[in-house]
Amino acid sequence: MGSAALTEAVKSIRDWSKSEGRVAPLPNMAELFGSLVFNDKVQQARLPKPAYRALRATITRGVPLELSTADAVASALKDWAVEHGATHYTHWFQPMTGITAEKHDSFLAPSSDGRAVAEFSGKELVKGEPDASSFPSGGMRSTFEARGYTAWDPTNPPWLHVNGNNVTLVIPTAFVSWTGEALDKKTPLLRSIEALSTQAVRVLQLFGSTAERVTTTCGPEQEYFLIDQNFFYARPDLINAGRTLFGAKPPKGQEMEDQYFGSIPERVLAFMAEAETELYKVGVPIKTRHNEVAPSQYEVAPIFEQANVAVDHQMMTMEFLKRIAPKYGLVCLLHEKPFAGVNGSGKHNNWSMADEFGNNLLNPGDNPHDNMQFLVFCVAVLRAVDRCQGLLRASIASAGNDHRLGANEAPPAILSIFLGDQLTDILEQIEAGAAKSTRQGGHLDVGVSALPRLPRDAGDRNRTSPFAFTGNKFEFRAVSSGQNIAWPNTVLNVAVADALESIADELEKAVKGGQDVLKAVAKLLTKLVREHKRIVFNGNGYSKEWEKEAGKRGLLNLKNTVDALPQLVTTEAIKLLERHKVMSGRELHARYEVYLEAYNKTLNIEGQLMVLMANRYILPAALEYQRQIAASVSAVKAAGATSVQGKKLLGTYAKLVDQFRTQTDALTTLLEHAGSSAEKHAAHMRDKVVPAMEKLRLTGDQLELLTPHEVWPMPTYREMLFVK
Ligand code: ADP
Ligand code: MG
Repeated sequence: MGSAALTEAVKSIRDWSKSEGRVAPLPNMAELFGSLVFNDKVQQARLPKPAYRALRATITRGVPLELSTADAVASALKDWAVEHGATHYTHWFQPMTGITAEKHDSFLAPSSDGRAVAEFSGKELVKGEPDASSFPSGGMRSTFEARGYTAWDPTNPPWLHVNGNNVTLVIPTAFVSWTGEALDKKTPLLRSIEALSTQAVRVLQLFGSTAERVTTTCGPEQEYFLIDQNFFYARPDLINAGRTLFGAKPPKGQEMEDQYFGSIPERVLAFMAEAETELYKVGVPIKTRHNEVAPSQYEVAPIFEQANVAVDHQMMTMEFLKRIAPKYGLVCLLHEKPFAGVNGSGKHNNWSMADEFGNNLLNPGDNPHDNMQFLVFCVAVLRAVDRCQGLLRASIASAGNDHRLGANEAPPAILSIFLGDQLTDILEQIEAGAAKSTRQGGHLDVGVSALPRLPRDAGDRNRTSPFAFTGNKFEFRAVSSGQNIAWPNTVLNVAVADALESIADELEKAVKGGQDVLKAVAKLLTKLVREHKRIVFNGNGYSKEWEKEAGKRGLLNLKNTVDALPQLVTTEAIKLLERHKVMSGRELHARYEVYLEAYNKTLNIEGQLMVLMANRYILPAALEYQRQIAASVSAVKAAGATSVQGKKLLGTYAKLVDQFRTQTDALTTLLEHAGSSAEKHAAHMRDKVVPAMEKLRLTGDQLELLTPHEVWPMPTYREMLFVK
């Protein structure tokens, strides 16, 4: 079986390398970019002036949209879409399932004379009503009151989805219940951006800025695996769980470190080029592509954008990768840990804040020690992460990410901030009273006079930190590869909004009392650094010593999803999100339930799948080989000799088969558990089911290593990861 998939995979690569597709003409990127988007340029050209101005005011300043404007936009939008071949439109939203959802409606309406005309009103643009009862709501809606509404989010322009012979107009929306509660990931994100803006503007004004709006910026780096489709379809675990549940580590893993930034295989590069081109057309500014650390692992990253748009674009990026890979005979795996024993995938969420003039508030400039405004925003992030460790940790918790965090390849489950030498030095000066100087990086001496002199960064990088300052932004690195980044960004925004609020409160009070702003800032900074320096850690985040040290510092170490999720519903968390009007206690409880249920369901599916694969794939193969060894031993005996090693192998193998069978039964029994509550059931999954799955896998993998290739029923790591 393994061999059949291998033969097919090799054939598919060979066919591809001979195909016409390889020499497709190069697209004109500048012309293509945004060509399928109803963007500012198109809006300007097609909207009546007053409608255009009103829409801009909504987009840039959040001014509520009048229905008359919506009607004008809808009409222009429909004409534009229909001219480009669109027949349908869809309200596109991000329910709590973690993926996106869409329901398509036709533009066509019958007219009285028996024909049909294309129609689209402002009302249809602004509000949709998908039957919401089947989306997870965490108990916020029972089916009899299932009304859910999608509301157009004008901050991200609509685009066209071209799919073979049909074109659909996609309208990004927020998804809320009849009572106005958030049923999606977008609504809280938009609210959190508002919250942060309000507080950041207060702080900026103290520094004399005239800014009226601050947005968060976000540039997510996406890691993913690509494997040949033939292998994928031969593995029930990949199809149904997105990760392998069995599979022995190959002799060659990533120890040669020859994959990272290595040259990209031709078929993969062609896939990347098409995915990028398609993303370009819908306005996603992809910038970087490269090989990642693990074999068959890659990364794609865009140029950063405003967070609300970046989040949509990130969802589109994941969708496009998945959708386009099969055209190249490949499958894109976004799971956090598709292959045990091989590096998993994450998403680095680069994050910063900018005012409406485009100033990056986390840009330290040449002399950060002197840049009080920068220091305030930077220390606000320190305070935010320190005070909201639990919430941030919970925002990235999932069954998939449990395989990575703390597993010596990904950041630990403990949140801390890497600042680098330069900033750490400045903070130490602040702590001692005042910052007087900035350590400079100087220049790099490469030792070859023909090479240009390169400026040296003031600090090195640290890959082991979950939250790192990287020059002019923070990078939240513990985010998982498959997740919607809206939620971690929401939590981060609220955490920082809250820190900025307390800073603004204190500074405004000092100024009112007649104090000089900068003096008040200096004093406050010293206080804040003393209070929150425990969150700064520049050392090796993977080390055992750090775990101990973090414990001494009183930092949280929430090792898994079940430990982390309750952080969403602590009294402080609810108060925090309610005060900033980002989420109500009810909404938070709903989310907690949805995430807990997702954890339970994921593990249940994985457990059931393991049992299925054990009984219907591995065991039959193992019994077959056992029979072959036994037959061989008997044949030797019948011929008058004794096969000492044959008997020994039979003994070893039979013992493993027995053990495998026993462990399968044990897992089956454990999966029958019905918890009295979702919490208890989750604890059972974590404490009983996960270890039982690990045990069964270990035995299965030992069997794999002893079983002949022709008999083994599934493709192996060696094939899946190295045939590309
Ligand atoms: P690295 O993090 O490896 O140094 P880059 O400098 O290319 O690499 O940045 C990685 C990601 O960070 C990119 O997606 C980039 O657009 C994004 N980024 C850069 N500046 C900002 C910013 N001010 N806010 C948010 N993201 C940013
Ligand atoms: Mg990076």
